[in-house]
Amino acid sequence: MAKAPRGLPAVHWRDFEDRVLVSCPACGGLAVVSPDPEAKVRRFVCQACPKRDELPGNTNYLYGLELRLVIPTRHGNLVALNEAHLDYLAAYIGQTLRKELVSADSVKNRSQASRLPAWAKAAGNREEILKAIARTRASRL
Ligand SMILES: [Zn+2]
Repeated sequence: MAKAPRGLPAVHWRDFEDRVLVSCPACGGLAVVSPDPEAKVRRFVCQACPKRDELPGNTNYLYGLELRLVIPTRHGNLVALNEAHLDYLAAYIGQTLRKELVSADSVKNRSQASRLPAWAKAAGNREEILKAIARTRASRL
């Protein structure tokens, strides 16, 4: 049996794009944007009110929408697209050994983790950022 890998797999931003959490412009509640491959659009569905919408399927689909999981810290903001992304950031920032597992065919500088700002990876900021992630989870989900 192979040994369990250390660290976390490298991921890309778009790995989380199938479920993007935003704030509903009508009621301020939690809303989900997800692709509808058959209709080539993205669907906006508010979890708190009846608002539904169809958004263009292109890369500007979030135009005018506020991402739900913004993580404010003293150093700047981090952003997570959804719950899994938030979990990933918490795990990544929390791990003692911040080593990505990068498979031979992936491009390291395109991975989500390597796109984190340096301050988010600094050991001295770890506790503060983990607290900020926990606050965001508690208040925005
Ligand atoms: Zn709403």
